[in-house]
Amino acid sequence: YAAKQTGEPVRRWTPALDERAGEFVRLGAEIRAALDQDQFRVVYQPIVELPSGRVAAVEALVRWEHPVRGVVSPAAFIPVAERNGLIVELGEWILRTACRRLAEWRAELGDAAPRRVSVNVSARQLARPRFAATVAAALADSGLPPACLAVEVTETAVFEGGQAVIALHELRALGVRIALDDFGTGHSSLGLLQTVPVDILKVDKSFVDQVTEAGRHTVIAEALFQVSSGLGLVAVAEGVETAAQAEALHRLGYRYLQGYHYGRPVADPDFALTSAIAGQSTSAIAG
Ligand code: C2E
Ligand code: MG
Ligand code: MG
Ligand code: MG
Repeated sequence: YAAKQTGEPVRRWTPALDERAGEFVRLGAEIRAALDQDQFRVVYQPIVELPSGRVAAVEALVRWEHPVRGVVSPAAFIPVAERNGLIVELGEWILRTACRRLAEWRAELGDAAPRRVSVNVSARQLARPRFAATVAAALADSGLPPACLAVEVTETAVFEGGQAVIALHELRALGVRIALDDFGTGHSSLGLLQTVPVDILKVDKSFVDQVTEAGRHTVIAEALFQVSSGLGLVAVAEGVETAAQAEALHRLGYRYLQGYHYGRPVADPDFALTSAIAGQSTSAIAG
């Protein structure tokens, strides 16, 4: 009866369902323990600027160094942490770690440090009423200037408007940059650009994969670049794996590229200039 009232379909118990629920609870408890035992790490992937080849920014990506299973990908635990709410605590830890790390690089390297760190924020974090205040506190405690931080959100997280969009306006007012992640794969992509404050469009890897061939993906990659530059946004192409892709994207107008071609996410990236299209670090060429 209660199930009917909430409109939930009545489902019969099955062992498979129970196993999944068990796995969910077990993994959730492990994430809780991992937080307490300091098993999470943040790694950083370069976002390279053309034509200079300098590392203009880095994206912070979380890793779980599991004592038995080794390094666990976020794809395996972020969805669980989102569902059980632990993403709020984990996400704040990631945010604080990333802000502190860039503040350290700035102190150590001066102008050679990346200008910005980009932190992924899940829908559930963004929908919390005090999210912008949490970000302001992380910035204040690390001493990182707000303009040096970008938050990456997906179209899906902001699609419904509401508190998530209010939070983006508050972040903007702080001076934090907003990036739409995996752009082009979620809901209502172009309409969102009229209603949501955005500074950076991260064009999804799926449009980059075949950008060397004349075809639909290339047409879309070019159109997304045109839209973003027409609106005064910065376009970043994600998932660039080859020099040929970098070359093709450069020809379409892209000036910011990210992907294994330039470097995998690591704890301590090399910020030496890369030869922009070829993607090798110049120190590697010299050595
Ligand atoms: P994302 O934010 O779109 O991050 C990009 C993902 O693509 C990363 O995977 C990165 O390692 C991978 N990648 C980058 N360049 C290439 C490439 O050239 N080829 C290929 N095949 N992959 C590439 P990762 O680190 O496994 O993260 C997966 C997703 O998990 C992220 O997608 C993001 O949605 C989520 N995630 C990661 N870290 C965090 C975090 O700290 N907080 C939240 N809320 N989500 C996170
Ligand atoms: Mg991202
Ligand atoms: Mg992305
Ligand atoms: Mg992605």
